[in-house]
Amino acid sequence: MLKAAFPGSFDPPTLGHLNIIRRAADIFDELVVVVAENRQKKYLFSAEERISMMKGLIADRKNVTVELCDSLIVDFLQKREIPLLVRGVRGVDDFSYEFELSMMNKALDSRIETIFMTTDPEYFVLRSSSIKELASFHGNVAGMVPPLVAEALAKKFK
Ligand code: ADP
Repeated sequence: MLKAAFPGSFDPPTLGHLNIIRRAADIFDELVVVVAENRQKKYLFSAEERISMMKGLIADRKNVTVELCDSLIVDFLQKREIPLLVRGVRGVDDFSYEFELSMMNKALDSRIETIFMTTDPEYFVLRSSSIKELASFHGNVAGMVPPLVAEALAKKFK
């Protein structure tokens, strides 16, 4: 049984995140999407909102679940006995950041393996922060996020 976790802020979930989730769910027997809540970070959507959106988006995938993590991801993985971490990579900038993060996680627990998945080309420009900015100016985010998220963004910036 190969069990992996895909952590992130998902503030909000984008088609880029969903692409990674779909592909990872095809590879691993079980995938836990981990919605991170970091007290130092400011989010547009609350953890409850991000979890509820994510649950709605993955409802058709039987081997994908969604959980909250408000501690160190390494502690979360140890408690759940999940040895694999999936991270999406859009380009070299993402990779250098993700590489450092994986080194830090390895230093904390050498058993944890990070699997990098490159984005599919049509999603590589998608970034939650830019999508939020676009939505704040009432720009068209269809094609970047699923309809459920587009509606939630429109409500936030009404
Ligand atoms: P963070 O909280 O680390 O900024 P996000 O919540 O934005 O990360 O994303 C979670 C994971 O999804 C990260 O590994 C990030 O690199 C990846 N990701 C985000 N957008 C995309 C995309 N368009 N294509 C592939 N991976 C992505």
